[in-house]
Amino acid sequence: MQFIEALKLRNKLFILFILITLGLFAVGVMGSAYINSMKKNIDSLYFGSLIPITELNEVLQTYHYGLENTVYRLSDADISNAEAKLNIVNSLRFINKKWQSYMSHFKREDEVEYVEYVNVEILSINKYFTKILKALDNKTDMQNISIMTLEKRVAIIHQVLQKLINYETNVANYERQKFLSNYDSIIFQLGLILGIVILALLSISLYVFKSIQNDQTKLELASKKLKIVNKKLEYASYTDSLTSLHNRRYFNLIYDREVKRAKRNKNYITFMMLDIDYFKQYNDTYGHVEGDYALKSVAKVLQDTLKRPSDYVFRLGGEEFGVLLSDTDESHSARLADEIWAGIRAREIKHEGSKVNKYLTISIGVVCCIADDTLDDNILVSRADEMLYQAKERGRNRYVITTDLSAIISEGIKEKSI
Ligand code: GH3
Ligand code: MG
Ligand code: MG
Repeated sequence: MQFIEALKLRNKLFILFILITLGLFAVGVMGSAYINSMKKNIDSLYFGSLIPITELNEVLQTYHYGLENTVYRLSDADISNAEAKLNIVNSLRFINKKWQSYMSHFKREDEVEYVEYVNVEILSINKYFTKILKALDNKTDMQNISIMTLEKRVAIIHQVLQKLINYETNVANYERQKFLSNYDSIIFQLGLILGIVILALLSISLYVFKSIQNDQTKLELASKKLKIVNKKLEYASYTDSLTSLHNRRYFNLIYDREVKRAKRNKNYITFMMLDIDYFKQYNDTYGHVEGDYALKSVAKVLQDTLKRPSDYVFRLGGEEFGVLLSDTDESHSARLADEIWAGIRAREIKHEGSKVNKYLTISIGVVCCIADDTLDDNILVSRADEMLYQAKERGRNRYVITTDLSAIISEGIKEKSI
């Protein structure tokens, strides 16, 4: 059975198919063998008993109605000589034919002797009727025919034939009995063999089926693991390894989707571009490892400040971050930019190289507007970049917000600085 385990799923299914076919074939073969044996039994009952009995009955009836009756009617002058002669000739011919046919059937040893005896009796009574025929030719002898003798002779042949009929009937009953018990035993044997065959096929099929099920479970398990690995891979491919924020790849994916959604619903959309002030100096002062810690701290502040499921925070590269907000109006966006700025400030990350503060600070460019069909796909990013530039220009450590999408720096700009 181990070889089944080793087979491929396709081959196991093939074995299952073969087993089912074999099972059906076995049932078919046994069924036809059973029907054949039934046919033989019915044949032997029909040709061995039913036909011989019918023939004997016909012979007996012809003695009574074809011969005896004709002689009675002749003696009562009910029929003419010619009619009587015809009846007798036909009857004798019919009896001969039937008797010869009966004799030609298979005879059991125990009946051969009696059949011979009946044959002699038949020859004898037939001779008697042949004599009557001759007498009919020579009309003078007709008086010699005795009704008494006729009755006696017909009674004898009746008795003799009846005995043979009874014998054949008994044999037929015996054969029928034998056939019935044979039938029961065939049915039993057939049931037994079929049961064994079906049981054997079922057990092997069950084994194959279980093995297939096993394969299926393994496959499902492997596919689940693969899905988990894929999810992890997908997560990794969209995540920045240092800060665990979404990376630029994910930004490209989400940005388009969110802009389209906002356009559809004519909703507010906000994009912020954030850049740490004098970060190059920070690295120079404290080293890259400390610089990485500072990046993580900024990321933490962003994550803690922006908690709605629709808020997205990205590390766009280096010490540049992006924030994408939906359904957030100008004042709310400004408040969030303020909270981010304040959150970083509150961390009090020492930055001695900074020209604007003794602690690490950040500049933020914010653009907030109601999205409509005129909103160009990239305008938010470029406007936020411009605002960030403005923030840097105006002395860093601040946020600059606009709701105006036109490229000219307008009075719509609002800023907050310390
Ligand atoms: P500004 O105020 O004008 O932004 O000045 P800046 O020094 O921050 O200028 P800039 O944005 O050009 O400097 C980016 C610096 O960020 C350069 C690089 O040393 C640092 N940096 C970029 N990526 C990483 C990083 O993954 N880890 C660390 N530690 N530093 C990084
Ligand atoms: Mg930069
Ligand atoms: Mg910078």
